[in-house]
Amino acid sequence: MIDADRHRQLAEELLGGPHLVVGDARLARGSGGVHHHVNPSTGRPQADVPLAGADEIADAVAAARGAFAVWSRWRPDERRDALLRLAALVLRDAATIGAVLSVEAGVPAAVAAGLPKRGADYLSYYAGYADKLEGSVIPIFPENAFDYTRLEPLGVIGVISTWNGGISAICRKAGPALAVGNTVVVKPMELAPFSVLRFAELALEAGIPPGVVNVVPGDAAAGQALVAHPGVDKISFTGGIGTARKILAAAAENITPVVLELGGKSGNIVFPDADLAVAGQFSGQVCMGNAGQGCVFPTRLIVHEDVHDEILERVVAVAGSLPLGDALDPTTVVGPVISAGHCQRVLGMIERARSERSGEIVLGGRRAGGELGEGFFVEPTVIDGVDSHAHIAQEEVFGPVLSVMTFADEDEAVALANDTPYGLAGYVHTNDLRRAHRVAAALDAGYVSLNSFAALPAPAPFGGFGMSGIGKEGGREGLLEFVRTKNVYLGM
Ligand code: NAD
Repeated sequence: MIDADRHRQLAEELLGGPHLVVGDARLARGSGGVHHHVNPSTGRPQADVPLAGADEIADAVAAARGAFAVWSRWRPDERRDALLRLAALVLRDAATIGAVLSVEAGVPAAVAAGLPKRGADYLSYYAGYADKLEGSVIPIFPENAFDYTRLEPLGVIGVISTWNGGISAICRKAGPALAVGNTVVVKPMELAPFSVLRFAELALEAGIPPGVVNVVPGDAAAGQALVAHPGVDKISFTGGIGTARKILAAAAENITPVVLELGGKSGNIVFPDADLAVAGQFSGQVCMGNAGQGCVFPTRLIVHEDVHDEILERVVAVAGSLPLGDALDPTTVVGPVISAGHCQRVLGMIERARSERSGEIVLGGRRAGGELGEGFFVEPTVIDGVDSHAHIAQEEVFGPVLSVMTFADEDEAVALANDTPYGLAGYVHTNDLRRAHRVAAALDAGYVSLNSFAALPAPAPFGGFGMSGIGKEGGREGLLEFVRTKNVYLGM
C-alpha cells in the first residue's frame, strides 16, 4: 500500500526552496533548465529541480577557487573541528535526511535511516586526518642532503555523483577532499539532488566558509561543463562506464586527473562447506536491497553443484518473501527503482534473458502491479542456470535481478567469478579458512567479503579493478587521492 498523501506532504515540506548553492548565493534558477522530479514510489511529479548550466558551473568553480585561498590556509585542527561539527549536524538531521532519501530516490526507510550515519562516519574519520597528514624525510646518500615531502591539497575538486548514494556518497568524496584543504563543486544527478543540497546547507551551518562546498544539480551537460573546466584540479566521479569514457576523454584536454567509481557484476561463490542457511539468506537478500541499485551487490551467484538445489530453494524463499513496497514503510526491504526509464531498462534486460533463453526465471520477472502499479517497482527476480556469457550474466542490471550458475571445483568457481569485465567486489562463503583467503587472493576484485557483506566502513579502501574504475574511496588511500606530493631538496 502506497501512502501517496504522506509522500506529497513530505515532498512539500522537504523538497522546496532554492536548489543551487554557489558561494554564499542560493539560486532558485539555473541556465540548464528545469527537471520535473518524480517520486519513484508513487510515479507522481513532486518538485521542480532548477538545473545548473555552464554559467553556474563556472560561477561555482570561481567560488571554489576563491574559497580555496582561505580554506587551505585554515589551521588543520580548525578544519578538523569544522568537519566534526558537520558530522554532528548530519547526525542531528538524520531523520529528516532519511525521509528526503526515501521521497527523492525511493530508498527504503529502514536503509535511509542509516545512510546519514554512514556519511557522518566518513566525515569524522577524515576529520581525524586533517591534523595528521605527514610527509616524510627521504635519506639521500652520499651527499647527505636534507630531502623531504610535503602533502598539499590539489585545489578545486569536481564531484559528479549518481542517484543511489545521496548524502553518504558525497561525504565519502567530499570528506577527504575537504579535510586536506581542497574545496568542492558537487554536481548531483537531477534525479536525486535534495539530500546533497542539505549537505551544502549543513556545511555553511558548521561554519565552513561559503564557496568551500558548492552544490549545483544538473544533467549530463552540467557534468560535461564541470569536467571541461580548466579551473578544476581533479574529478571524482561515481556512475556508469559509458559516462566514465566521456569523462576520461574530456579530462584529457586539461590533463585533469580522475577517480572513477563505476559499476560491478560481482560474483558470490558458495562452497559446499559453507553455512548454507547463512549463505542462502545472504544470497537471496543482499542483491535485492535498495531494489538492486547497489554497485557492490553480489549479482552473480556461483554455487557448487552439490548444494545448488538447497541454496536455490533458500534463495527463492528469501527473495520471494522480502517485503516489496512503499519506500516510506519501515518494513519495506525492496523499494522502487529510481525512474520510469530505469524500470523499463531493468524489465527490458529480463525480457532479453527470457527471449534468449538465458536460464530459467524461477522467481519474479515482472513489474509489480496492483497497488504498486503506478510506482517503479520490479519484482525480485532470480534466474537459474545462466550461462556466464549471457548478457544478463555480463551486464550490470542495477535492479533486483540475480543470475545463478554452478561450478564443480574451486578453479572453475574463481574463473566464473572473474569472467566479467568488471572487478568491483567478490564474495566467498566457506568454512575453510585457507580456501577463503586463497580464493580472496585469486579474485580480480577490489573488495572481497568473506562470509559477510561488504559494509564499506570508512577506514577501509574501496574501489574497483578493470572496468569498475580507477582509484579508491575510504581509508588512507581515499585521502591520498586528494593530495599532491611535493619533494623539497636542500643540499648540505
Ligand atoms: P550516469 O553515469 O548516467 O550518471 C552519473 C553522473 O554523471 C550524473 O550526475 C550525470 O548527470 C553525470 N553525467 C552524465 N553524462 C556526463 C558527461 N558526459 N560528463 C560528465 N558528467 C556526466 O549514472 P548511472 O549509470 O545511471 O549510475 C549508475 C552507475 O553508477 C552504476 O553502474 C553503478 O554501479 C555505479 N555506481 C558505482 C559506485 C561505486 O562506488 N563504484 C557507487 C554507486 C553507483
